[in-house]
Amino acid sequence: MKTHARAVVIGGGVVGASILYHLTKQGWSDVVLVERTELTAGSTWHAAGLLPLFNMSYSVGQIHKYSVDLYKRLEEETGQPVSFHVTGNLRLATNQERMDEYRHYCGTANTIGVPFEMVGPSEVKSLWPLAETDGIVGALFHPHDGHVAPVDVTMALTKGARMGGAEVYRHTKVVGIERSQEGEWRVSTDKGDIVCEHVITATGNYARQTAAMVGLDIPVIPVEHQYIVTEAHPELIKRHEAGYAEMPVLRESDASYYMREERQGLILGPYEKDAPACFVDGVPESFGQDLFPGDLERLEPHIEAAIRRVPIFGEVGIKDVVNGPIAYTPDGNPLLGPAFGLKNFWFAEGFSFGVTAAGGAGRYLAEWVTQGEASIDMLPVDPRRFGAYANKAYTKAKNEEAYAHVFITHYPMEERPACRPAKTSPCHDRLAAQGAVWGQRYGWERPNWFAPEGVDPHDIYSFRRGNWWEHVGNEVRSTRSSVGMTDLTSFTKFEVSGPGAESFLDSLIANKLPKKIGRITLAHCLTPSGGVRSEFTICRLAADRFYLVSSGAAERYDQDLLLKALPGDGSVMLENHTTRRGVFVLAGPRARDVLQSLTDADLSNAAFPWLTAQDISVGLAPDVRALRVNFIGELGWELHHPIEYQNHLYDRIMAAGEPQGLKLFGMRALDGMRLEKSYRMWGSDLVTEYSALESGLDRFVRFDKGDFIGRSALLRQKEEGLRHRLVTLKVEIDGCDPLGSEPVYSDGIMVGRATSGAYSHTLGCGLSMVYVAPDFTAPGTQLEIELLGVRHKAEVCEESPYDPANNSLRA
Ligand SMILES: Cc1cc2nc3c(=O)[nH]c(=O)nc-3n(C[C@H](O)[C@H](O)[C@H](O)COP(=O)(O)OP(=O)(O)OC[C@H]3O[C@@H](n4cnc5c(N)ncnc54)[C@H](O)[C@@H]3O)c2cc1C
Repeated sequence: MKTHARAVVIGGGVVGASILYHLTKQGWSDVVLVERTELTAGSTWHAAGLLPLFNMSYSVGQIHKYSVDLYKRLEEETGQPVSFHVTGNLRLATNQERMDEYRHYCGTANTIGVPFEMVGPSEVKSLWPLAETDGIVGALFHPHDGHVAPVDVTMALTKGARMGGAEVYRHTKVVGIERSQEGEWRVSTDKGDIVCEHVITATGNYARQTAAMVGLDIPVIPVEHQYIVTEAHPELIKRHEAGYAEMPVLRESDASYYMREERQGLILGPYEKDAPACFVDGVPESFGQDLFPGDLERLEPHIEAAIRRVPIFGEVGIKDVVNGPIAYTPDGNPLLGPAFGLKNFWFAEGFSFGVTAAGGAGRYLAEWVTQGEASIDMLPVDPRRFGAYANKAYTKAKNEEAYAHVFITHYPMEERPACRPAKTSPCHDRLAAQGAVWGQRYGWERPNWFAPEGVDPHDIYSFRRGNWWEHVGNEVRSTRSSVGMTDLTSFTKFEVSGPGAESFLDSLIANKLPKKIGRITLAHCLTPSGGVRSEFTICRLAADRFYLVSSGAAERYDQDLLLKALPGDGSVMLENHTTRRGVFVLAGPRARDVLQSLTDADLSNAAFPWLTAQDISVGLAPDVRALRVNFIGELGWELHHPIEYQNHLYDRIMAAGEPQGLKLFGMRALDGMRLEKSYRMWGSDLVTEYSALESGLDRFVRFDKGDFIGRSALLRQKEEGLRHRLVTLKVEIDGCDPLGSEPVYSDGIMVGRATSGAYSHTLGCGLSMVYVAPDFTAPGTQLEIELLGVRHKAEVCEESPYDPANNSLRA
C-alpha cells in the first residue's frame, strides 16, 4: 500500500469508483481508493440499476445525462460489460397537473439535450402491451435510458481507473483522518497511513461517521428502500421466446412506484409514505453486506395499484424482497463538493440515485478537485447549501420526507412541511397574524405572500398560476405606488475587520471596495474561469471594518469562502452577524415619509444618498444600520437592526406607515419586482457556470484595480468573445408565466435558456432572465420561449424594463 498519494478516495461503491476513474481522466494517476470490505459492499450491490433521466434540476439533469452516456461507452473502453439494457423509460400521468409537470420538465430536458417524447394512451399501450391504460391521460417517454448492473458498472470504472494508474485497496478500513501542520491529510487505515493532498469521501451509509472523523455533522441519513422481485410469468417468458424487446421501465408517478422486467419476471419498486430512516446513529458493526427484513405491509397500496395497472404482476409469486438502506439528504440531492471549513476535503455523499448519478458526479467532482472548479453549476449539490440547522433530528425527518416525495408533483414553488417552523424572526407571529403564507429557505421561515382577510392562507400550487397570483399583484402595486415592507432577517451578514481587512477583501472581489466610510458597493467573488461564485453587498463601516450582506441561503457557502481565504497572521477578523441583526426592507415612494417620522436622522437625498449607509436610531431602537439600497428598485432602506428591537421596530413602522398606505409584501412579490429591474438573483441567474461578463456584471468588474480571482480568464473572454449573455425578455403570456429553466428559440433553433422568470404585475407581461448566444442580445430581437410545451413570443428588452432611468430609487 502506498504511504503517499495525491488523492485518497474513501469508499468503493459506484460513486467512489467513478471519482477515482475521473481523477485519472483528469491526468491524476497518483490516486488511490480504500474500501473497508469488498467493492460494492455498501448500497451498490443491491441497487435495481435504473437510470432515470427525469430530473427537474438543470445541474442534476446534466450529471445524470453524462452518466447514461458514459455507461454506454464504458464496456468498449474497459472491456468490462455493464449490462446496459436500453429499454427506455415510460412515466405515466393520470391527471393534467402531472402532464404539466412533465411539460415543465421537458423545457429543462431540452436545455440539457435529453431526448424525450410526450405520448398518448395508445402509444403507452403499444410500448407496454401488458399494462391497462384506463385513467391514463398521457406519458413521458425517454427512449434512451434503462438499467445497468451496478456491480458491473463499479467494476468497469475501477478497471478504467487502474488503467489510468490508480490503485485500489480492498479490506482497508479508514479509522481516522487528521490534518498535519503542513496542511496535508493523513488518512489512517487498519493497514497503515496514507498522507495525501486531497481526501474525497464516498462512504454511502457511513457518511455521518466519516464526517465525524473531521468534526463535521452532515445531513446524510439513509432510509429503508424496498423492491420486490417476482417469479417468471408465462406471458413474459412467451414474449422473451418470441424475441420481443424488453419493455421500458414503467413509472406510475401518481401511484409512486416503478416496474421493470427482470429475468421474465418483474421488479416493483415503490416509494411509500412511511419508510423509516435507518442508521440514525451510524451503521452498526454487525451490519455487513446485509439487507433488512422485507416489510410488504408497508407496500400494500402500491402493490394493489401495480396490479390494477399491470394485472400479470398479481399472477406470480414473489421471489425476493430487497430492503436496503438508501442514503438521503433533506432535499434529496447528494452532497457533492467541498467540506465546510476544511481545505482539500471533499464529500461525495448522500446519493439516493447513486447509480444514475455516479458517472456525472465523478466527472464534475474530479474537475473541481483538479482544476478548482467544475464546468457546470454545482450549487444544487454543494454540501455547503446546508447549515448547522440541518442537525440529526432535522435530517432524519426531512430525509424521510424527501423519500416520500420522490414521486410527488414537483411544483417549482413547492414548500415542504417537515421541520417547520425551525428558524423564525422575532416578528414571525406578527406577520402570521397579517396572513403570512410561509416559505422556508436555509431553515428560515420567510413570508412568501400575505393572504388578505377572508382568504385561506395556504398555497394552492399550479404550473400555471397559484392561488397567490392576484394577492401578489396587489402587494406589488401597493409597494410601487405607496410603500411596502418585508422581513429579510434571513440575510447572511458578516463583519470583516482588522488591519488586513481591506487587502483581504480586495483580493477576493472583482469590484473595488467602497473608499469612503458609509459607502456601499455590490461586489462579486469569481471562480478561476470568471464564473460568479458569490455576491456581497459591502458597506465600509470604518477604515478597517466592513459589513457584508449576502443571500440567506449562502451563509455556509460564503463563510467557507471567507474562512478558507483568511490570512494566517491574525490580521483579519471574520464575525458572522447573521442572527445578531434582523432586517426589514422598507421601500416605495413613501418610504422616506414613513421612516422620517420615526428618526431624527436626515433622510433627504443630500444627507442620505442612494448606496450609502448610516447607523441611526428608529423609535427606541438604537444602532439601526440603515442601508439605502433595496432589491426592488424603489426609494427605500434596508434596516439592519439589533434583533432584540425587532418587534418594537415592526410595531412602530407599521403604525407610522398606516396613513401612508404601508402594506406588507412577500418573497414572491419581491421576485417579480426584482425581475422588473433586471436585478440578477444569486443562485439562479448568477452561478459559476456563467462568467461575470456573460452575466452582464460588467460595471461591477474593475479590471483597473489590479489582480483578482478570475481576472485573466475574463480578459481572455473579452478578447475571444462571450459564449452567452444574460438578457431580459418580455414574454407574451396566456395564463401561465415563465418560471426559469425554459428553452429559448430563434427561428426554431434553441439559442438560450432561462434562469428565472415571473409575471410582471407592473408591466402586464411575463419576464424572463435568459442566457442567449451573443447574436440575440440586441433589444427588440424577437425570440420564442417554451412554456409548458408551447412556444410563446418574446422580445429582448432593455435592461430594467421598469424605471430604466432609476428615478424611483434615487427619488
Ligand atoms: C433497494 C435499493 C434499490 C436501489 N435502486 C437504485 C436504482 O435503481 N438506481 C439508482 O441510481 N440507485 C439505486 N439505489 C441507490 C444506490 O444503491 C445508491 O445511491 C448507490 O449505491 C450509492 O453508492 P455509493 O458509492 O455512494 O455508496 P455505497 O455503495 O454504499 O458505497 C460506500 C462504500 O464505502 C465503504 N466505506 C464506508 N466507510 C468506510 C471506511 N471508513 N473505510 C473504507 N471504506 C468505507 C463501504 O464499505 C461501501 O462499500 C438503490 C438503493 C436501494 C437500497
